[in-house]
Amino acid sequence: MSLALARRYRPRRFSELLVQDHVAAALRGAVARDRVGHGYLLTGPRGVGKTTAARILAMALNCANRTAEGEPCGECDACRRIWTGQANLDVVEIDAASNRGVDDARDLRERAMYAASQEGHHKVYIIDEAHMLTREAWNALLKILEEPPPGVVFVFATTEPQKIANTAAPVMSRLQRFDFRRIGPVAIQERLRGVLAEEGVDAADDALLLIARHADGGMRDALSVLDQCLSFGEGPLTAERVREVLGLIDEESFGQLLALVAERKPGEVFPTVDRLVDAGADLVEVAGGLADLLRAIIMHHYGTAPEALGEAGRRVVATAAAGIGPEDAVRMLKLLGESETALRRSANPRLILETLLLRWAMMDRAVDLRALLSGGAPGPAAAPAPAVTSPPPPREPSPAPASPPSTAPVYSVPWNDVGVRAAWPDILATATRQSRFLGQALQDASPRVGDPGVLQLVFGPSQAVSREGIERQKAAVAALVSARLGLEVSLELVGGEPSTGAGGSSPVQAGRRLTVDELRQERLTELRRRDPALDALAEALDLELVDEQ
Ligand SMILES: [Zn+2]
Repeated sequence: MSLALARRYRPRRFSELLVQDHVAAALRGAVARDRVGHGYLLTGPRGVGKTTAARILAMALNCANRTAEGEPCGECDACRRIWTGQANLDVVEIDAASNRGVDDARDLRERAMYAASQEGHHKVYIIDEAHMLTREAWNALLKILEEPPPGVVFVFATTEPQKIANTAAPVMSRLQRFDFRRIGPVAIQERLRGVLAEEGVDAADDALLLIARHADGGMRDALSVLDQCLSFGEGPLTAERVREVLGLIDEESFGQLLALVAERKPGEVFPTVDRLVDAGADLVEVAGGLADLLRAIIMHHYGTAPEALGEAGRRVVATAAAGIGPEDAVRMLKLLGESETALRRSANPRLILETLLLRWAMMDRAVDLRALLSGGAPGPAAAPAPAVTSPPPPREPSPAPASPPSTAPVYSVPWNDVGVRAAWPDILATATRQSRFLGQALQDASPRVGDPGVLQLVFGPSQAVSREGIERQKAAVAALVSARLGLEVSLELVGGEPSTGAGGSSPVQAGRRLTVDELRQERLTELRRRDPALDALAEALDLELVDEQ
C-alpha cells in the first residue's frame, strides 16, 4: 500500500463527493451549462471535501473527455495532473496560511492576467485557508473579481467564513457560497467499508464505528486513521486494534467509570484511573468519550439514541442511565466543560480527570446528607419525567437530587473513635497511593468523631503545612474517608496553628491569620519547588473550592 489511503481514495468526480450532493449537483450543472462563475467560496469543517471539490471543478473545466452532465473523466492527462496536484499551467493552488500578504496578491493579480494555456481551458486558482488572507490581499483580489479576465475562476476554501465576512465583506458579495456539511459517522463508516472492500481487508463494524466517531465528521482524518490501523497489524481490523492505535478505552471501562459515578463511589476513582493509565489510555480521549456517553444518556431518557452508538455502547448507556438522570448528566457535562481546557493543557491530565470524576461522584452528596440528618428519607428519585417535546431543564445546582435513589448509608465500621482509628491505616494507604504529598499530610492528623457525619482531623502545633495540604484537598479526602467508612462524612480540621495548642476548634482570629497566611505562602513556595506535582494539584483544588460554594 504505497499511496496513502486518504489520497488514493480521494474522489475524482462530483458524484463521488460524499454527503455534499447539494454542492456537487450545483457545480456539475454549472459546468454542463457553461455557466461557471468567477468566484466561489467553499466553507465547512476540515476534511469534508472542500479542496477536493475545487480540484474536481478544475478537472471538469479542463477535461478532454468531459461528460454531457459536466463530470470530468478523471483519466485524461489534464485530469490526472490536476488530481495529483502536479505542476499545471491552468490550476494554481495557494495555501493562504503561508502566502497571506499583499505582495502575493499582487503577484496573483499579475498572473491572473494571463489567460488559460489553451483555447477552451480555464485558469483555476484554488486558495486554501482563505480566512488567513490579509485585508490588503483581499482588496487586491477584489479588483480582479470586479473585472475578471475571461476563463479565470477563483475558488476560496475556508473553515472560518465569518473571518472573511469581517475582513472582506465586499469580496464575499461577489462569491457564490457553498456550505459543506459535516460527514456523519454512519456515512464515514460506509465509506471506510467500501475502501476496505477494495483493499481486500475485513473489518468489524465496531472497529469502523470507532474510527468514524474519532474522525468527527472529517473523511480525510478517518482514512488516515484507517491507514495507521492497517499498517499497525495484520489480518482483519478489530475494535481492539483501533483502540490501541487511538489510545481509546473499551466500553467496559467506560461502563466502570460511569458506574462509580452512578453508584457514588468516589473511593474507586483512583484505582479505576490507575488501570486506565496502565492500559495506555489517552485521558483526553477518555474525557471525550465520556462526553459522548453523557449526551447519549440524556437522549436515552427522552427515548432516542445517537446515530453512532454501537451495541456495546447502548448497553453501557442503558445501565448508566438507571443511576444518572438527565439533570445529573447535564450538570456533569457542565463540569466536564469546565475541566476541558485544563485537561488538554495540563502536564498532569490524570489529576484533572480524577478531580472531575470525584466531583461527579460526589454531586448531590451534601443534599443527601442533609436529608438524612433531618430524619427524612433521602427520597426516591423523582423518576425523570420523560417529557417528549422539551429538553431537560438544565437547572443547577439542583435543589433536589433527581436520581438515583440514594441507598441508606452502610456503617461498615462503628461510628466512634475506635472504629475510625481501625480504618485509618487503610485510608492512609489509599491517600498515599493517590499522592505522596497527601499521604504525608494525612499522617500528621489524628482522626476523631465530631458531630454526626463530621470527622475531625486534629493537627499538632507545628503541622500548619499538613493542615493546609488537607484543607486544599478537603473534598477529595472526605470522599476517600467516606468510601472507606461506608458513611458520608464531612471533615473539620482542628489545630495546626503555630501559636495554639491542638484541639482548639475556634475559628482562627483575624490578628493571627496574617501570620498563618505568610507561613503558608512560604512553606507552599518551598514545597512547590520540591514537588512540581503540587502546582497542578493547587490548580485542581481551586476548581474544587468553587464547587463547594
Ligand atoms: Zn479528464
